[in-house]
Amino acid sequence: MITRQFGIPVTSPGAILRRERDLGTALGLETAETTQLGGLVPDKIIVELIEDWLRLHGGHGFVFDGFPRTTPQAESLQQILQSHRTPLDLALWLEVSEQTVGDRILSRLQCQSCGFTTSSTSAVFASRPVCPYCDGPLVRRNDDDVTVLRHRLEEFNAKTQPLADFYEKLGALRRIDGNRDREAVFADISRLIEQAA
Ligand SMILES: [Zn+2]
Repeated sequence: MITRQFGIPVTSPGAILRRERDLGTALGLETAETTQLGGLVPDKIIVELIEDWLRLHGGHGFVFDGFPRTTPQAESLQQILQSHRTPLDLALWLEVSEQTVGDRILSRLQCQSCGFTTSSTSAVFASRPVCPYCDGPLVRRNDDDVTVLRHRLEEFNAKTQPLADFYEKLGALRRIDGNRDREAVFADISRLIEQAA
């Protein structure tokens, strides 16, 4: 939605690694086991992925989805941004209850080609699981189950939660109630991006 509205490219280390896994590359296969169990891929690998991506796409603004996820990643990102002479405009913190997270993940359908995400509770996609943007197949992710979710939440609480303080101190953090529907959440995000521009 951000890319369509603002023309800003969005990337996510998770999406890059899932594509590498589907292509059967060494990196993809190495990291698949970790993510399959809800664990976090080592910081060094994630930071290298982001640096490579920025070299190719980072010219005129960018959004990272699911990065950084740890304090060392956030510190590396600060150095990377400095070397690109690009200040960080915003850190968007989507607050959702564990109940919401669970409900969404267990009904999540994702396009295998472009990463578009929707829910199997949406009748349109439940009966015809085809991506509206690229005609790719909408599938369930094989790491979306209850046990994996519990481990992901533990990782989040231990390693990602501290980033709220990190970005609060930098004055970049904006908290958004993510329990609402996607239009309401996106309206808030749009306003923040426009204000930062
Ligand atoms: Zn698609």
